[in-house]
Amino acid sequence: DPRLKAITSSIRVVPNFPKPGIMFNDITTLLLKPKVFKDAIDMFVERYKGMHIDAVAGIEARGFIFGPPIALALNAKFVPLRKPKKLPGEVISEKYVLEYGKDCLEMHVGALQAHERVLIIDDLVATGGTLSAAISLIERAGAEVVECACLLGIPKFNDSCKVNGKPVHFLVDCL
Ligand code: 5GP
Repeated sequence: DPRLKAITSSIRVVPNFPKPGIMFNDITTLLLKPKVFKDAIDMFVERYKGMHIDAVAGIEARGFIFGPPIALALNAKFVPLRKPKKLPGEVISEKYVLEYGKDCLEMHVGALQAHERVLIIDDLVATGGTLSAAISLIERAGAEVVECACLLGIPKFNDSCKVNGKPVHFLVDCL
């Protein structure tokens, strides 16, 4: 797909962010190009329309950028999966281990109904730890994860990658 080249070239690599030795894939430069941003959203929508997605669950923070336009185009609800103590209502929480330290995701009780079909959105998959926590949250609510979708991923994983038994799809390889 010719759109992928423009997506790749619109992502910037920032060395040594947020820590020395890390090459950070920065998607904010893609957001400055409306045509490329729209192409990325369209590619997700083309893949998931017709798959009966009831809800798009976006992971804080960059899943909040890509998730809502996808949800609107699919006529699905948007459910934010947030870092601890951000959601005001009753929540369920899932702790997870990162490369450096621990983190946690929370979701409002009642945001998803049993058996709803959910698409999880984040910007980037590396180890899959964050997606794994998101999948657990959604399954604990009794809903079904159809797939996890990211803009960027580790090259060897695409489409053969499964996290917690769920398929992971991404548009372009991490730089
Ligand atoms: P994982 O849990 O798969 O190891 O890491 C993925 C999570 O870390 C995602 O939520 C993603 O936003 C964040 N992340 C890790 N490295 C990068 C990076 O280089 N660029 C961006 N944009 N996000 C990253």
